[in-house]
Amino acid sequence: VAFKQYQYDQSTNYQDVTLKAIGLANEALSKSANLRLVPGWKEGVRWTSQDVPVFIAKSVRFAASDEIFVPEGERFIVVNEECISKLPDIFHQGGGLEVSPEAYLGLIFLHELGHIYLGKTGSFSALQESSDYHLNLIENADKNTELAADQFAASQIKAKTVFETFELRMALNNIVWNMNRWRALTYFGSGDIYIPQLYWDEGFSHPNLILRMLIISQIVEPGSDSGLLSMFIEGRKRKRWNVVLNPITSVDQMVKIAKDMDFSVKIQQRSDRKRYVLTYKPTRTEIFVDELPGEEVRAIKDMATAIGLNQ
Ligand SMILES: [Zn+2]
Repeated sequence: VAFKQYQYDQSTNYQDVTLKAIGLANEALSKSANLRLVPGWKEGVRWTSQDVPVFIAKSVRFAASDEIFVPEGERFIVVNEECISKLPDIFHQGGGLEVSPEAYLGLIFLHELGHIYLGKTGSFSALQESSDYHLNLIENADKNTELAADQFAASQIKAKTVFETFELRMALNNIVWNMNRWRALTYFGSGDIYIPQLYWDEGFSHPNLILRMLIISQIVEPGSDSGLLSMFIEGRKRKRWNVVLNPITSVDQMVKIAKDMDFSVKIQQRSDRKRYVLTYKPTRTEIFVDELPGEEVRAIKDMATAIGLNQ
């Protein structure tokens, strides 16, 4: 293990949490996987060929996208200490059900072990790299590799008894519940609003995070999601997303939806009006909507019509 050559500085924070997460992941691992996580910071320990050390690194020198990953061609996992406190946000926990940091980490470690098990080279992180934010439905090798690593994680949990993997199963259920709650709160509670922001993939390295969690939870416990996964797959199939059940009450909300529908929006403040210039990115079609003082409702309607949204 050549952790030092990467010049990460080890952190002494979060060792307890990481140790618990290592325990949760190891409990789920099958014998046949022939892998075992060990804390990378323990001195004087000889690692065996099945050991995969976990290092906690200080965040200096990290790109924003480097959160929890296996560096290219290596057999150890690096945790950027800064990322641990961000996990509830990344998984849209909000005011929803509590998921412990060790459970988040345990699930992510199993995903990373999937990469090692599958033996593909390359640097693998569990989460979306924030640097390539771009909504799309493109299928590519990277995304398939991510799904395969997820599948490894899920099949490990599934193969063990509920008793042995109780915390991880519970965390998975709560994560799915929280993400669905977030979806409902952010997108008006409607299953009928098929907007890319929700259903599509952000960037080209990872599939949609909610979709991934739904797939994992369905592998572990088929039928436990009350049809959410099929709704999600349906949502991704829809070409346009033209039904909003609840009324939109501000132009800002409408601008957000337009952006989710792949429009870019520029706002020009004129002396007598606000002009919204919308460009549909795939075709570069440009349209504009004017908002006159006191006529917001009118502007909302005009913009809905302009972007093809039926209210
Ligand atoms: Zn990954």
